[in-house]
Amino acid sequence: MDCLFCRIVGKKAPAKIICEDEKCVAFEDIAPQAPVHFLVVPRKHIATTLELGDEDESLVGHLFRVANRIAGDKQVAGRGFRMVMNTNPEAGQSVYHIHLHVLGGRRMHWPPG
Ligand code: AMP
Repeated sequence: MDCLFCRIVGKKAPAKIICEDEKCVAFEDIAPQAPVHFLVVPRKHIATTLELGDEDESLVGHLFRVANRIAGDKQVAGRGFRMVMNTNPEAGQSVYHIHLHVLGGRRMHWPPG
């Protein structure tokens, strides 16, 4: 199996890494859709949110808490930011290793496109 985000997590592909810990790696999105756009990615390969198991519940919470911390560091927490996980093609998922998008630094639109 060849997974881009497994390669980034394993340092076999380049990325602008923001921070990492034993459970996840956060890095800048290569095609940012907002002034702040980074991804928080679990080290564990999980293809889509539909594959999350009971054992992954704390991992998902951890991704959100890491995202909150980085959003604070990047000065967008108080202004507001958006966190998104796309699941499957109609939502626009293009990399099949779950990742939390964190977007900020501009006004977000609702409903999303
Ligand atoms: P999604 O479409 O929800 O699966 O999101 C995948 C995201 O990964 C997109 O926002 C891409 O711009 C981003 N992406 C793809 N390749 C890379 C890469 N090599 N480094 C950083 N971000 C990437």
